[in-house]
Amino acid sequence: MLKREDWLPLARKLDWELTYVTERDAFPEEVSGKPWLPQRAWQQWEEPFRTSFSEYVRGQRQKEQRLAAVREAIGRVEDAARLDRGWLSAVKLHAATFALAEFAAVVGNLRAARFGRDGAWRSAATFGALDELRHTQIPLALLHDLVRWDVQFDWTHKFFHTNNWVAIAGRHLVDEMLLTADPIEFAVATHFVFETGFTNLQFVGLSTLAHDVGDRLFELMLQSIQTDEARHAQIGNPVLDMLVQVDREHAQRLVDKWFWRSWLFFAIVTGFAMDYLTPLERRKHSFKEFAREWIVEQFSEQLQRVGLALPWYWSTFERSLDYYHHMVYASAYTYRASVWFDCVLPGPEERAWLAGKYPESFHEFEPIWRRVAERQRQAGPRVEWFTHGTTPVTFCDLCQLVLCGGTPRQNSARTLLRDGRRHIFCSDPCAWIFEQEPERYAAHENVVGRILAGKAPANLLELLRSYFGLNQEMWGKDVARGAYPWLADEPRSQEEAAC
Ligand code: MN
Ligand code: MN
Repeated sequence: MLKREDWLPLARKLDWELTYVTERDAFPEEVSGKPWLPQRAWQQWEEPFRTSFSEYVRGQRQKEQRLAAVREAIGRVEDAARLDRGWLSAVKLHAATFALAEFAAVVGNLRAARFGRDGAWRSAATFGALDELRHTQIPLALLHDLVRWDVQFDWTHKFFHTNNWVAIAGRHLVDEMLLTADPIEFAVATHFVFETGFTNLQFVGLSTLAHDVGDRLFELMLQSIQTDEARHAQIGNPVLDMLVQVDREHAQRLVDKWFWRSWLFFAIVTGFAMDYLTPLERRKHSFKEFAREWIVEQFSEQLQRVGLALPWYWSTFERSLDYYHHMVYASAYTYRASVWFDCVLPGPEERAWLAGKYPESFHEFEPIWRRVAERQRQAGPRVEWFTHGTTPVTFCDLCQLVLCGGTPRQNSARTLLRDGRRHIFCSDPCAWIFEQEPERYAAHENVVGRILAGKAPANLLELLRSYFGLNQEMWGKDVARGAYPWLADEPRSQEEAAC
C-alpha cells in the first residue's frame, strides 16, 4: 500500500494543462478574481495544514460524537433554564446572526472549490465548505430544542429570512462577503480578516465566558466550530501573500474594507455579550480588553507578517473601541422591541464596572443610563414602553446599522451627494468603502429609505409586526421586566431632579 506522503500531494494538489478550452474560459476573471494570473503563477500555493478526505471524516465524526454526548447530557430545557437570562440573550443574539451566515460561507467556499486557481486551494476550500455546513447545522440542531420553551430561540433560523433591521445589516455584509465575492476577495475577507482577525475573539474569548457562566453546551459548540475555522482560515495567508506580491495596493484596500465591515458586526454581537449581557459577577475582562488582545495585537502582527500597513482609519478604530458598542447598546436598549432578544438595564454596579474598564468614555454614557433608570423607576415594573423609543431611527447607507459612530457628544455621521441622492454614513470608513464601489452599494435602500418609499410602514408598532417579523411574544423586552432591586435606591439624575 502507498504511504500517506506518497499519495497525498497528488490527491490534494491535482492540476493539469487544459487543451479543450483556454484557462481564461475555464477560470474567467469575473468569477475567479483579480488579479488574473496563469495557473503556473499559483503553483507554489501550499496550505500549512494538510488533510485527506478520510482523515477529515474521521476527525469530524469525533467532534460530532462529542457534541452529541454533551447535548444528550445537558441540552435539555431544564439545563438552559438554569442559566442567567441576560446570558441567554447573548446566546440568542449570537446564534441568530451566525447560523445562516455559516450557510452563506458554504457557498463562498464552494465557489473557491471550483474557481480557486490551484488544486490544493480548491481541495482546502472543499473541506471548508463541509465545515461551514456543519457550523450551520450545529446551532440549528442544539437550539431548536429550546424553541418550545422560549420562542426567541426560533430566531436562530428565522433571523436571516426577515427584514429585521439587524438582518438587513447582516445580509448586506454576508451577501457580499460570502455569497458574491470571488475566491481571491473571499480568501482575504473571510479567511484572513474575519476568521483569522476576529473569530479568535469570538470563539476563544466568548467560549471562556460561556464556561464561566456555566453554559457548557455553548462553550463546546464554539470550540467545536473553532477547530474547523482554525484549519480552513489558513487558506487566507497563501492567497494574500500572492496578492501582496502582485498588487499590494489592491491587497491593502481589501483588508481595509473588510476589517471595518467585520469590526462593526463583531463589536455589536460580541461587545453586547461581554459588556452588558454576561452577569457582572462572571465577567473577568471587558470587550475592549478581549479586543485588544485578540484583534489589535494579533491582527497587527499578521498584517506586519504579510507586509501590509494598518488600515488608514486605525485611530478611528482605536477610538471606537471605547465608544461604538456602548453607543449601539444604548440605542438597542431603548429600541429593544425591534430585536429578538431581551436587554439588560445596567445598574449602578455594572455602570461602575464599565466606568472602571472604560475610563476614557463611560462617563459620557452614565447620564444616559441614569435617565433611563429614573424613567423606569417612575414607571414601575412591567411597564415597557415608558423607556422605549417611538419613531424609527436613522441607518447608515453602507453598514445598514444605526448611526452610532462617534461619541454621545459628537456623532460622526457624514453625507454624500451622488446622482441627486443624499447618502448618509455612520463613519468615515463606511463612507470610504461606499465611495470605492458606489455602483455596488448605491441602489440598496436602508430601513428609512424603505419607509419613505412606502415599502415599509412608518408606524413603529406596524414596522415591528409586519416588517421586522416580530410579535409581542418574541420581541425584546427588559430582561427583568424593569423589576431591579437596585432601582429603589437609584440616585435621581440631575435632569430629572431639576424638573
Ligand atoms: Mn464557520
Ligand atoms: Mn469559516
